[in-house]
Amino acid sequence: MIIIDGSEGEGGGQVVRNACALSLVTGQPFRITHVRGRREKVGLMRQHVTAIEAACAIGGAECEGLRVGSTEIGFTPGRVTPGEYHFAVGTAGSTGLVLQTVLMPLLAADAPSRLVLEGGTHNMMAPPFEFLTRAFLPIVNRMGPSVEARLVRHGFFPRGGGRIEVDITPAPLRPIDCLDRGAATGHAASVLFAALPLPVAERMLKAARKKLPGWAEDAFVVRELPVDQGPGTILLLEAAFENVTEVVSGFGKLGVTAERVAATAAGRMAGYLASDAFAGPYLADQLLLPFALAGGGSFTTVRPSQHSLTAATIIERFTGRKTQFEVRSGERNLVTIR
Ligand code: ATP
Repeated sequence: MIIIDGSEGEGGGQVVRNACALSLVTGQPFRITHVRGRREKVGLMRQHVTAIEAACAIGGAECEGLRVGSTEIGFTPGRVTPGEYHFAVGTAGSTGLVLQTVLMPLLAADAPSRLVLEGGTHNMMAPPFEFLTRAFLPIVNRMGPSVEARLVRHGFFPRGGGRIEVDITPAPLRPIDCLDRGAATGHAASVLFAALPLPVAERMLKAARKKLPGWAEDAFVVRELPVDQGPGTILLLEAAFENVTEVVSGFGKLGVTAERVAATAAGRMAGYLASDAFAGPYLADQLLLPFALAGGGSFTTVRPSQHSLTAATIIERFTGRKTQFEVRSGERNLVTIR
């Protein structure tokens, strides 16, 4: 039994999701005490409960203490059964984070799966749909499997109601090295909005354009979504390279001006572009799991986040594989998993 103190390191929900995924792949049970111990409101939230329920459903697992607010859980994995599954996060909880929990076990299964996930598709503090399809999944697919995701309906916080569908065709994950991003192949900045005034979206785009002067005029677009998919808005900044695409998002939030959302997101994109690292901070923490399950590999990234360092610790507890973070020049760090 692996015992994890959920208040160590990042001390958030990712510890729970990574532990479930690793437990299902390795067959080792675990217990987490002080679940989300570093968050203001400790314990499981609705979206974490759904993610664990999804892990139990695909993996014939049992989870003790599984309820909203729980600060201690015990998880006993069973046999992963590929197939068709439908999971709905009752609130606008992120569909991408449910996917993060069940993807690796389903990739290790012996037959394809199809998932229908309902909830939020563009939530703060979670990978938006475009990040999954353009940044994360292309790298996973390069390692052997085929994972295709489709967005059926957008879901923004707090209303949710989004829907994505994911087809997963497993194949053994093979180690890869992702050191260079390659030459730039394009840029795009889009504001998606629903049930909000058009000028809000236009202001966001204008502010982003000001902060990204090197990007072509036609790279900036506004896309209005059907009113019943809102209210909500997101700015998506994409920088495509031969070997990787970085997707930086700015989430519209009540009380935060459109200009501010754009300035923060554009500042993050500028930081990534100024480095010559392969992975941005979010892609880095999400690649650690597939790389470890492939048995190794390496990638360059910007300065490692607390999420990455914590993920590496959890991975080592389940697999014995060590992740080495080495500072190279400036903002370029080398992450090696052996
Ligand atoms: P909490 O932090 O409240 O426990 P949580 O369950 O959402 O909530 P975190 O531990 O913060 O958990 O994990 C968030 C995950 O979402 C991480 O894997 C991180 O890489 C990813 N993520 C967050 N924001 C973005 C973003 N803008 N783009 C891509 N991925 C993101």
